[in-house]
Parts: sequence; C-alpha cells; structure tokens
Amino acid sequence: MKKIGLYGGTFNPVHCGHLNLAFELMEKGGLDEVWWVPTYRSPLRMDDILAEPRLRYKMVELAVEEIPQFKVLDTEINMLQPAYTIDTVKEILEKHRDKQFYLLLADETIHSLMEWKDPLELVKLVPLLIGRRAGGKLPHFPEEIEAAIKKGMLETSMLDISATKVRERIRKRLYTAHLIPTKVLDFIYVNQLYFTV
Ligand code: ATP
Repeated sequence: MKKIGLYGGTFNPVHCGHLNLAFELMEKGGLDEVWWVPTYRSPLRMDDILAEPRLRYKMVELAVEEIPQFKVLDTEINMLQPAYTIDTVKEILEKHRDKQFYLLLADETIHSLMEWKDPLELVKLVPLLIGRRAGGKLPHFPEEIEAAIKKGMLETSMLDISATKVRERIRKRLYTAHLIPTKVLDFIYVNQLYFTV
C-alpha cells in the first residue's frame, strides 16, 4: 500500500522551509509521496492577511512541479471557507481507500492541537509525522494524543525561514531567492504580491 503524507498550510507563500520539512519527513518516515493541501484560511488564524487562495495554490504548484513525489490538492481552497483538518482528512481517506495516509506537521503546530476540531478522532484516523521547527518542550496532552505525538516525532533539521520573513524581505525589496524557489519568486514579482503587506 502506498504511503502518503498530507501536508497542509497557508503557504503564504510556500518557501524552502516547507520543502525541507516535506522532504525530511517523507524520507525519514518512509513515505512514497507528499500531497500538499493549501488551506483557504485557517480557522485558528482568521485575522491573517493572505494572498488569494488560487495564487497560493499556484505558488505551491510551481514549487513542486519538478518533484515527482510531490503533488498539490485543491480540496481545501475549493471549499471557499475555512476547513478543519479532520474534515479534509476524512474526505481524502474516503476517496483513496487503497492508500495509507499520514499527517505531516511541524512541532510548533502541536501546541494548538487541542484547539483543533476533534483532535482525538484525528490522531486515531491518521498517524502523525512531526518535524522540528521550534524545538523546546511540548505541553501535556491526553494519553492517546501524547502517544500519537511521541510515535510521530522525527528528528529533522531546522531551517529558520518563515513566510513572515519572506514577505518582509519582498516588501523591503531585499534579495529573497535563497529562501524561496525562483519560480515562486518570479510569480510573486509578476503578480505584485506582498509588496505592500
Ligand atoms: P507564517 O510565518 O506566516 O506563520 P508559516 O510558514 O509558519 O507562515 P504555514 O504556511 O501555515 O505558515 O506553514 C505550514 C506548516 O509548515 C506549519 O505546520 C508550519 O509550522 C510549518 N513550517 C513553516 N515553516 C517551517 C520551517 N522553516 N521549518 C519547518 N516547518 C515549517
């Protein structure tokens, strides 16, 4: 059975930190592929100012188009409203019964896990694969969730890149091609994204 990692995020814009995390979790977790799922908007970050979903989706497409193990799903951006991970996972599992899915996360995301919709059901549905971004101590969780986190924690390298930093460098007209694929950067320039916010 093919092993697929699901990797969700706002990807505003996608950067080399995301690509590195996806590669390391795929390789260390023994996955065959990673399917990227750009979100329409995160229910926990409703105030973020985001580039249009279609444009963020396109940027992920450009970033992964030459990587055969990566593909992009439009499941969430097509919902036209904030999506909960559990609902997306259920939909994907339903459509692809012949595959084994994993959920890819960075450790910092785990801090808000209990605020997600049905976290216990989620970890029962898909095993987690967690990479390091922030490092440091994690809070305590209910037993079954704690066990899923422990099982999925992998040692990955930390790249100090964030979408916030990328957007700030673009706004200040600073060199940014060391943090983000050039194709994505070209797209940002052509579409004049992030120059004002
Ligand atoms: P922002 O700076 O706007 O918060 P972000 O890059 O952290 O942006 P997302 O695009 O939502 O936000 O990130 C998707 C996922 O990738 C999240 O789980 C996030 O923690 C993880 N991630 C982002 N940057 C890195 C990085 N440099 N290394 C490892 N994981 C990362």
